[in-house]
Order: sequence, then C-alpha cells, then structure tokens
Amino acid sequence: MKKTFIYIITFFLLINSTYIAKASNIDINAASLNANEYDIKMKQDLLCLMMAYPEYIKDINCDDNNYVYLIMKSGKKILYDDKKVKTPEEKLENADLQDTMEQIYPLTNISKLMDKNYDPGRYRSYELLKEIYGSSKQQIEGNLKSVNLKYTHVLFNNNNKAAEALESTMQNLIPLSRENEAVRRCLFPCMGTFNYRLVAGTNRLSPHSFGIAIDLASDKRDYWKWSSPKQGEERLNSYSREVVEAFEKNNFIWGGKWGHFDILHFEYRPEIILKAKYFANGDKSVWYKGVNEEDASIKAYIDKINEVLK
Ligand SMILES: [Zn+2]
Repeated sequence: MKKTFIYIITFFLLINSTYIAKASNIDINAASLNANEYDIKMKQDLLCLMMAYPEYIKDINCDDNNYVYLIMKSGKKILYDDKKVKTPEEKLENADLQDTMEQIYPLTNISKLMDKNYDPGRYRSYELLKEIYGSSKQQIEGNLKSVNLKYTHVLFNNNNKAAEALESTMQNLIPLSRENEAVRRCLFPCMGTFNYRLVAGTNRLSPHSFGIAIDLASDKRDYWKWSSPKQGEERLNSYSREVVEAFEKNNFIWGGKWGHFDILHFEYRPEIILKAKYFANGDKSVWYKGVNEEDASIKAYIDKINEVLK
C-alpha cells in the first residue's frame, strides 16, 4: 500500500518537473536553486574568512564527499560545514564555520533589541580561534601585548592585528571622550580584556580567554541574564553610537546587537564585519559583488574559491 502511494507520488513529481522544465525552458528546479544559494553563501563566507585571516588561512580544499575545508598555516584542516542541523544551544557548543557566519551582523544603528536567537558573532569556531590566537593558556599569554588606552593599559592578543585594531579604536575615541560625556561614560572604567575563563555557567571558553574581547564600563542592565529586555533596551538606547561605530570601523562586533545582549562587550571578529559590509544585501548577480576586485590579494582569493568550488 505504502509502496503504491510512493510510486504515484513519484509519477506526479516526474510529470510535473518535466512540465516545469519545458515551460520555463531552463534546466533548474527549486532544489537546485537552493543549492545555488547555498553555494553563493559558502563562497562569500570563505572569502570573508580569507580576507579576515590572511596570514593564517593558506588554502581551501573540497574532498570527494563535497566537504569543504580551510587549510591553515599549521597544516590543520578546519571543516566549513558539518551539514548537521543544530539548535542554538548546540551551535554555541559546537559551531562549525558556517554556523558562525550564518546570521548577518547589522552595521546600522539599532534602537530595539535583536530577536531572541539572533546573535550574529556569538557562535564561535574554537578550532579557528585556537589556530589564530593560541591553543592553550600558555600559548595565548605568549601572544599578548600591552595596549595603552591612555587611561589604562590592557592586554590584548597581538596576532592577526587584534591589538592594533584596539589601539586604533581608542585613538579615535579618547580625544572624543574629552568633549563627549556619553563616550566618556562608556569608556571609564574599563572592566577588562584578557581573562582565561569559561563563559559563566558553561564549559565554553570565553572570547576573553583568547585576548580578543574588551568589556567597557559596566551597567547593571548590560547583560541578558542580569536584566529584563525592557531595561536592556533602555541601556541600548542610551549607549554612545560613536563608541559602537568606532569599534565596528576597526572590525569589532558589539554584544549590544545580540538577542542575548551583552552591551559592555566588544569582540574582534573581522570576518563578521566583512560579511556585514559586503554581503548583507541580497544581490547575487555575481557572488563576490561588492568587494574590491582591483586588490590583487582579494582577486587571488576569488580565483582560488572559483577554482576549488567549481
Ligand atoms: Zn565580555
């Protein structure tokens, strides 16, 4: 009985797809369109990663089963997409690169909290972080540099220009803080940067463990666990836009743009900012449309991706 049913359904599907192919005279159906969209997103993600971590990602590779990998400077391979369906909790625990890049970070000002599970940049690939910033406490500590914020010194990871990005952000903000009270109130006192610890209540390393995150001045409404959404939204709206913009300009994402808000938290994540900058809109006429193709290294990444992912 069941078999007969399946035969009938298959028959109708076949008739139907033949009809569609004839009618539109093109050889695609809905499934291949989705595959095409997946392909475009994968290429864009890989390009953003290669642009964000140029010294660390040496190559990309696609195996016989169509699993795509980054090849790191150390020789380690990092899988782009494990193709498993995950809950948000599972993504927090075990995100692959695709999970970390899926939600687009908004570069515009926001006045409302993001939706509950919209947390662009909050999923992290620990494999990637360890390759770039150090795979143990000792190794990370060896990569830290003291950064002069003019009002205090903090430790930040010197790899992949993270410390340089923090320095440059503060060079923008410190002069501004002298005339702008809202900026001043966000900056002083700084609550901390490097701290090798787990995220409270979990077994996951905090991004502060890698020396790539800074907590600015604290307010009791800053964190989704401490405060109601209403209080969080009030704090969000009182927060200095200049501070957020200066950090974003230097490749930091802001925890204020997460449904699980963390308003005092900024994290150096160039791949997330690059994706927001170049691929937030849906124009897919050419998959890399928006980036500067005149730049020889970017052109080389595009060629590499086109060659490996034909
Ligand atoms: Zn933090």
